[in-house]
Amino acid sequence: MYDFIVIGGGILGMSTAMQLIKAYPDHKMLVVEKEDALAQHQTGHNSGVIHAGVYYKPGSLKARFCLEGNRATKAFCDEHGIHYEACGKLLVATNDMEMQRMEALWERTRANGLERHWLNADELREREPNITGTGAIFVPSSGIVDFGEVTRAMAREFEHLGGGIQLSSRVTGIDERPHEVVVKTSQGELTTRYLIACSGLMADRIVRMVGKNPGFTICPFRGEYYQLPAQHNRIVNHLIYPIPDPSMPFLGVHLTRMIDGSVTVGPNAVLALKREGYRKSDISLPDMASMFSNRGILKALMGNLRPGMTEIKNSFSKKRYLEEVRKYCPSLTIDDLAPYPAGVRAQAISRDGKLIDDFLFVNSRRTVNVCNAPSPAATSALPIGAHIVAKVREQVEG
Ligand SMILES: Cc1cc2nc3c(=O)[nH]c(=O)nc-3n(C[C@H](O)[C@H](O)[C@H](O)COP(=O)(O)OP(=O)(O)OC[C@H]3O[C@@H](n4cnc5c(N)ncnc54)[C@H](O)[C@@H]3O)c2cc1C
Repeated sequence: MYDFIVIGGGILGMSTAMQLIKAYPDHKMLVVEKEDALAQHQTGHNSGVIHAGVYYKPGSLKARFCLEGNRATKAFCDEHGIHYEACGKLLVATNDMEMQRMEALWERTRANGLERHWLNADELREREPNITGTGAIFVPSSGIVDFGEVTRAMAREFEHLGGGIQLSSRVTGIDERPHEVVVKTSQGELTTRYLIACSGLMADRIVRMVGKNPGFTICPFRGEYYQLPAQHNRIVNHLIYPIPDPSMPFLGVHLTRMIDGSVTVGPNAVLALKREGYRKSDISLPDMASMFSNRGILKALMGNLRPGMTEIKNSFSKKRYLEEVRKYCPSLTIDDLAPYPAGVRAQAISRDGKLIDDFLFVNSRRTVNVCNAPSPAATSALPIGAHIVAKVREQVEG
């Protein structure tokens, strides 16, 4: 019998497991992961940005955890010898409407307690000769890292403190009883006093296994990237983001300096026809059937038909995709866009068709389930883990 089992070997599962074993050092703990290695899904397929906390509604969990997570991630990297770079980020406006939106973002960055600097067009050009815009917000605390490497360091710490990790082990059923939870896996049955699920793209299915009606469904959105050729590795000195359209849930195609020295362009946000479908051709009939028979998802798709169609067109046309980035980096040409692996975001959609904005947790007597943890959840992994440990403590002691 385990004291705690954590489902999911992504950054949230490992952060939680590591902090749980520090809080309960004499307890028996296991992380169960269906893949044969850690960080194979969202954690291993993202932009690698240590976000500063620009966009999020003041007072939300995202705003709080991102600000804390930015500092905590850098401190964790310092402690574990993980290379990161605090290269800073520029949010670039390219027309009058974006300048107005930039003013609203400026106010939001103030409310969220960030250090930031307003740049006019000349100051922007001075910092970034290859970027064109009417103005920009400079946020120095944004950085870059490999979140897969951070996850593996957390796993080493967890194992060092006595925790176990069982790979290639898919959870197929959960039976929550008054004094224990029985977890059925592809490698046999396990029992635990408490269960924590950090299952990303499968979050709603795990909540259903717990016997709760989740009230949301995970909708997978593929984020497709291109990579610039090596001669453009120094094309930008910072991360370059457009000013986002406030009605859209994602940040818009950006130029990201990666920790390996390359620069990526992306990601877009296209509805994926398979939950873990990384290629355009990946299709799962059961996933599609559950998606298109879900009233919440259909309502959300109908309500975002125009932007959704634009994303699909940009996905199939490299020329259109290029135009998105040429708005602020006009020197790029179509030959500069080389293929790069996509990621798939787990976005929870409520029954009434809303894209759930904040981080979301659903708990039962003996389980804590992370249900909506899109970006900036990798940045926020340490505070999210601490939050879960506090919830578990309430259950254990309450
Ligand atoms: C394209 C893209 C760009 C992003 N960019 C950023 C960024 O720059 N900065 C940032 O902070 N965030 C970013 N994010 C968000 C970030 O990557 C995620 O929020 C974060 O990785 C979520 O971690 P997780 O552990 O919840 O999920 P995951 O990494 O998806 O891990 C979930 C794990 O659960 C396992 N699992 C699921 N079901 C089962 C089961 N039944 N049995 C056993 N195991 C199971 C899966 O195999 C998986 O390993 C981005 C995401 C995407 C997709």
